[in-house]
Formats: sequence, structure tokens, C-alpha cells
Amino acid sequence: MLKRIKQYFGRLKRGLIGYFINTLEKTPPIPKNIATFDIGESVKKQKIKCYQIGHGTTKVLYVFCIHGNETGTVKLAHYFLNWSYSQEKKFNDYSIYIVPCLNPDGFELALKKPDYFNGGKIGRFNNNNVDLNRNFATPSFKTKAQWSFGKNYEEHKEVFCGNFGNSEPETKALIKLIKSKEIKVLFMFHNTGKDVMANQNVLAKKIAKIYSQKTNFKNLNHETWLNLRQTGTLKEWCDLNNVAYIEIEGSTRWGSDWKKQKEALQSTIFINKITSQDQLVEETMIEEAA
Ligand SMILES: [Zn+2]
Repeated sequence: MLKRIKQYFGRLKRGLIGYFINTLEKTPPIPKNIATFDIGESVKKQKIKCYQIGHGTTKVLYVFCIHGNETGTVKLAHYFLNWSYSQEKKFNDYSIYIVPCLNPDGFELALKKPDYFNGGKIGRFNNNNVDLNRNFATPSFKTKAQWSFGKNYEEHKEVFCGNFGNSEPETKALIKLIKSKEIKVLFMFHNTGKDVMANQNVLAKKIAKIYSQKTNFKNLNHETWLNLRQTGTLKEWCDLNNVAYIEIEGSTRWGSDWKKQKEALQSTIFINKITSQDQLVEETMIEEAA
């Protein structure tokens, strides 16, 4: 009985905090003159936008809100866009691509029906009810798979992953962008697991380590990730396609998390240039020899 009362008040508290954060923290507008193009359309034919800063050879992609219910990531994207645009001159050698919302249909639903007292789960999927981060054409792809959540990912739900890999327009749009721009480093933003995860790529592991140090988010290892039993993910797709992949699970569903992630975002952006692929190979060889 006592446990249930505690749970009830816990939910009430989290819900109220969520409501206030969502209401009080506005999304900063995007600078007017920033270069933009559409990468494709959602199921409901909403445009999926990408913003570009710089025209250099070091190409980095930042993707937010693949799960539409993670609305705070869109706010984070807008803060990050404003900051990178203000630093444009420093990014001469870069092309920074930012997709603030990969799942506009889910995002729209989440904004319409914010389920504050249930952890903000409405709007996760696209308009075909597909979990987009289980929809990538990889060897592990399954039509139905597991979604884990809760403090230590102890709760599970079955989710629909599409009838086949890459079936969804949002998935296709992202893959087309990665291939056409020859993206080598990709950051993907979720919430609210408070952790960071890299794929098997050496550069990604290096970035994840720094990101984790700067934010105090847990740096999940490969074994922990395997235990989540995720299938058809962008992480796995990036491993197969030689893209360094860093996944960040922020600390708030409705807020931007900008204060917590600002320093991590700002310091890891430069490592992509400093650590060229050649240097990485050298460093790995030294590490292995040591
Ligand atoms: Zn997510």
C-alpha cells in the first residue's frame, strides 16, 4: 500500500515538473539566414528539415527527435543551432548538418497530447505506428521488437518496427542524407536515459567518453547495449556503413537540457577535425602495441 502511494506521488511530482518545464521553457527561434533544405517527408507529408552551417570537408550530422515524444530534444536542437550559427567563422573547415526533428508526425501528436503523468510516451512512433529507431535494414531487423524504459530500462513494451527494414519515409530520408552528404560522424539525441553510447567505431568511442565526462551521463558499454535487445537500430546501421555513431540520452523529456549538454556539445564538435581518420589509425596502432 505504502509503495503504491509513494509511486503515485512520484508520478504526480514528475508530471508537475514536466508540465512546468514544458510550459516555461520556450523553443528559441531559428536564425533567419541559416541555410536550410528538406531531406524528405513524413508519412503525413510534413517536410523534414535540415540546417547547414559551413561548407567544409569535415562533415558532422546531428539528428534530434527520431522518437516524437522526446520533444525536449527539439528545443536542444534549436539552442545548438543558434550557438553553432553564432560561431560559424570557426567552422570554416566543417559542414555541420542539423535535423531538429526527424519524426514531425509523432512530435506533433506529443505536443497535442502531452501525457505528463505517464512519463511522456505518446508520440514516440511515426504515423504508421512504427518505432523509427527499430526500422533500419540491418541483420537484426524484426517486425516486432522490444522498447525498454524506466530508471534502469527495467520496463519493456513490444513495438512495431515496420513490415521490412527501411520501410518508412523518415528512415529513407535520413539514409539518403547520410549517403548523399557522405556523413562520417553522426550524433543522435534521445531522452531521458541520462547515458551516452557509441558504436564500434574508434572515433565514436572517443567522443562518447568525453561527452559522458562533461555531462556525467553514464557511458554505456556494448554489453549493456546488447542487453537492451534493440533490433534494426541506426547504431547498427552506422556500424555496417562505417559511420561513427554517438547516441545521447538526455536528462529531461520536456526541457532542452542545454545547460547540461552545452559544454559536451561544444567540446566534442572540434574533435571531429583534430582527430582525422589517419591519426586515429595511428593512435589505435600505438594503443595496441602498448
Ligand atoms: Zn528515444
